[in-house]
Amino acid sequence: MQTPQPIVKDMVLIGGGHSHAIVLRMWGMNPLPGVRLTLITEASDTPYTGMLPGYVAGFYRREECYIDLRSLAQFAHAQLYLDRAIGLDLEQNQVLCANRPPVGFDLVSIDIGSTPALPALAVPSASSIPAKPIRELLERWEQVVERITQHSQLYRLAIVGGGVGGVELSLAIQHHLQHILQSTGQPRSNLEMHLVQRDRVLLPGHHAWVQRRFQQILAERGVQVHVGTEVEQVKSDGDRSEIRCQSGLVLDCDYVFWVTQAAATDWLGKAGLAVDDRGFIQVHQTLQSVSHPQVFAAGDIAAMVEQPRPKAGVFAVRQGKPLYQNLQNALLGKPLQPYRPQKRYLNLIGTSDESAIVSRGFLFGESRWLWRWKDRIDRQFMARFRDFPPMTSMNVTDATAPAPMYCAGCGSKVSSSVLERVLARIPTQPNRTSALILIGLNAPDDAAVVQIPSDRVLVQTVDYFRTLTNDPFVFGQISANHALSDIFAMGATPHSALAIVTLPYALPAKTEETLYQLLSGAVKVLHQAGADLIGGHTTEGTELAFGLSCNGLAVADRLLRKSGMQPGQVLILTKALGTGTLFAAQMQHQTNPHWIDGAIGSMLQSNQAAATCFLNHGATACTDITGFGLIGHLLEMVNASQVSVEIDLTTIPALDGALETLQRGIFSSLHPANHQAARHIQNSAQFSHHPRYSLLCDPQTSGGLLAALPLEQANDCLAALKALGYDRSQPIARVVSREVDGGAIVLV
Ligand SMILES: Cc1cc2nc3c(=O)[nH]c(=O)nc-3n(C[C@H](O)[C@H](O)[C@H](O)COP(=O)(O)OP(=O)(O)OC[C@H]3O[C@@H](n4cnc5c(N)ncnc54)[C@H](O)[C@@H]3O)c2cc1C
Repeated sequence: MQTPQPIVKDMVLIGGGHSHAIVLRMWGMNPLPGVRLTLITEASDTPYTGMLPGYVAGFYRREECYIDLRSLAQFAHAQLYLDRAIGLDLEQNQVLCANRPPVGFDLVSIDIGSTPALPALAVPSASSIPAKPIRELLERWEQVVERITQHSQLYRLAIVGGGVGGVELSLAIQHHLQHILQSTGQPRSNLEMHLVQRDRVLLPGHHAWVQRRFQQILAERGVQVHVGTEVEQVKSDGDRSEIRCQSGLVLDCDYVFWVTQAAATDWLGKAGLAVDDRGFIQVHQTLQSVSHPQVFAAGDIAAMVEQPRPKAGVFAVRQGKPLYQNLQNALLGKPLQPYRPQKRYLNLIGTSDESAIVSRGFLFGESRWLWRWKDRIDRQFMARFRDFPPMTSMNVTDATAPAPMYCAGCGSKVSSSVLERVLARIPTQPNRTSALILIGLNAPDDAAVVQIPSDRVLVQTVDYFRTLTNDPFVFGQISANHALSDIFAMGATPHSALAIVTLPYALPAKTEETLYQLLSGAVKVLHQAGADLIGGHTTEGTELAFGLSCNGLAVADRLLRKSGMQPGQVLILTKALGTGTLFAAQMQHQTNPHWIDGAIGSMLQSNQAAATCFLNHGATACTDITGFGLIGHLLEMVNASQVSVEIDLTTIPALDGALETLQRGIFSSLHPANHQAARHIQNSAQFSHHPRYSLLCDPQTSGGLLAALPLEQANDCLAALKALGYDRSQPIARVVSREVDGGAIVLV
């Protein structure tokens, strides 16, 4: 029997910055067996700094200059936790996050970038925009562009900070906004721009020629440059910001962009890490923290104590490879290798007219060719995160301890101590009286015992599936929503649930971490629904899988059955379709990360409020849309009710990206089986080329509810569903008697 490689170490990357993007790519090509890699980062993509000014200038599309961290994490077989780290517990070795349970690690690496050091009162607002985080800058920039496109008036903008970033951003903003003024018929004079610089020159540290040339270009483009003056005071009422400078200059602005000296978040120092006087993590040349050997850092957030370097994307990129090597060395117990950053580096600074200036010590010059060169370098860099190479080799050196032997004689059960520790850590139901749970997890026995009130019936269901996300906390939530949907579809109230878990082979501490994340997610959803986890069974296997057997209570004659549809009724669907095709596409690296974010957001939405809403609006039949797709589940209703339905295909809501992936022929593995049900569509041949036709067969995970209700209630119900947050809910079909259409399902 082959021994599966168990998880023996956890390595966590905080922040999806440039260095970590490179680490992930290299890890994907050459992983360390037995090491579980987890990326905790705020969003599923991250901007590449080299193309940022070009994006602001309007030269690049968004997808050209963002690294898709979902796809990258998938390539690296890494878990992806989308969250903001807010602290570190260096005693317990845990990362504290804003919206999820703490994440344990053996080794952690931090690449979270920096923020501009803002003067007092320069709080971010609609008119006061820090250049970092870049993600937020770009989101705000899109709002600025929209406003200026739509409203013709005088706009006064100030950029504070005259380093490379400030100068390049000023030129990019000026270029794009002048283009907008021109294309919307507004006068050039509608834009007034100022660049405020504390130092006496722009681009300090660069050759005088470069400084003069930029001063000249800015003047030619109408940007007023104020050097040798520092912003002393900022007044911001949200809509406008007024800046007052030492020189007496006062600018009342529509927008102020802060591209000032970099600052660090405060939770690193608070965690006890050695940081410099600006709060950046002090690291050796090996990129290891000077105070905590289990911590590494790279990019802007790291301060190399032996060889300090400026905060620049070029260093974050260069540190990627040595960081990867030293993380692997640390995991393997090998000596770390020092990284010697170059003293000078080539600056290729775009001038936003498809030309660039090169600056490196005494080397300088300007040409259109330089821009084309820079553009090629940047595009080649980004291509590395789209076209993944094959895995080159598997580092066969054992990461740590010898792999334990696995036998199945014990039923592959997870040890009781692991289970006990996890159950002690997950929260208990806060407001529950638990009167109906006679024996549950608070006093575990061989089985749970529940009391069923005499006026209620017990509604039971079970679901179980392999993980479809690389985040067990999210998977736990999705699974619980999916399982509870059957209870909601019956018009029942959730009561309790039993869990069945398959955990990947791992050392006990690693098993505990997975189970903790998974059950924390499931329990969060169960508790929100008013249900208790009362027991379960855990086992080990090759991959994570999870299921719940849920109990609900209902009044017998208020059950919503599939057989309750009546002619004249309307069918409302509460969620958009497309999870099957989107996750199939993700496996092939054929999605954009926001499509998957949207699909996960939809799967995380509970059907509970929708079910109550349907009951309040006279629904007589309901089902939840899951593995058999809309067509399969609808067919069950149609057959049980002995009616026909007419589906308006144009109304079927699709998740973002689902129509594109279906059009590319990307189908979930269950799709062909679901397609068998399409033979019950009377006129399928006529519609089989309709772009939404394939959506009917797409299997869903944690899909929406489909309910039949009287025509006269439909509008009110729809409005109520939208108010409850089911924005994609939609009437999709009407019920007719079988005699009218003579077939089960008709497309119109
Ligand atoms: C306008 C402008 C222009 C610039 N132009 C250049 C240039 O031309 N060349 C150059 O070399 N440099 C340039 N820079 C500097 C460059 O942007 C930074 O040096 C570079 O982005 C640093 O990369 P990083 O990997 O350290 O962090 P970042 O690129 O900032 O990445 C940090 C990542 O971590 C995530 N994150 C942050 N906080 C958390 C948290 N608490 N929890 C989880 N995730 C988190 C973020 O979402 C992000 O994905 C420019 C900067 C600006 C503002």
